[in-house]
Amino acid sequence: MENCIFCKIASGAIPSKKVYEDEEIFAFHDINPVAPIHILIIPKKHIASLVEVTTDDLFLLGKMMHVAKQLAAEFGLSDKGYRININTNADGGQTVFHLHVHLIGGKRMGWPPFPTI
Ligand code: 5GP
Ligand code: ZN
Repeated sequence: MENCIFCKIASGAIPSKKVYEDEEIFAFHDINPVAPIHILIIPKKHIASLVEVTTDDLFLLGKMMHVAKQLAAEFGLSDKGYRININTNADGGQTVFHLHVHLIGGKRMGWPPFPTI
C-alpha cells in the first residue's frame, strides 16, 4: 500500500527496531513508547484496521496474538503481566491505519485507561 508508514516499515523501506519477522508478520519497538516495553505487531499484508478484517484473516489474527504472547515471554513480561491493545478508528484512538497490536508492559497499568462517562 503506497504511503502507508507500516507497510514501509514491514518491507524495510523505513528503518525500525525489529524484534520479530516471519512470512506474514513483522514486529518492532514503538517509536514513542508509553511503557518500558512497547512493541507493535503488524501483518505484512495491508489491512487498514480491525474493521477490514475478514474470515480469510482468522489464522493471521491468531498468529499475531501468538507472536504477541511469545514476545511478552521473551521480554520477561509473562509473570507480571502486560496489555494487548488494538486501537480501532477515531474513537479507538487509531492514528496509523495499518492494523497493529500494541504489546505494552513493564509497569503497572490502571483500568480503565481513560475517564469513565
Ligand atoms: P495507534 O494510535 O494507531 O494505535 O498507534 C500507532 C503507534 O505507532 C503509536 O504508538 C506511534 O508511536 C507508533 N508509530 C507511529 N509512527 C511510527 C514509526 O515511524 N515508527 C515506529 N516504530 N512507531 C511509530
Ligand atoms: Zn499498510
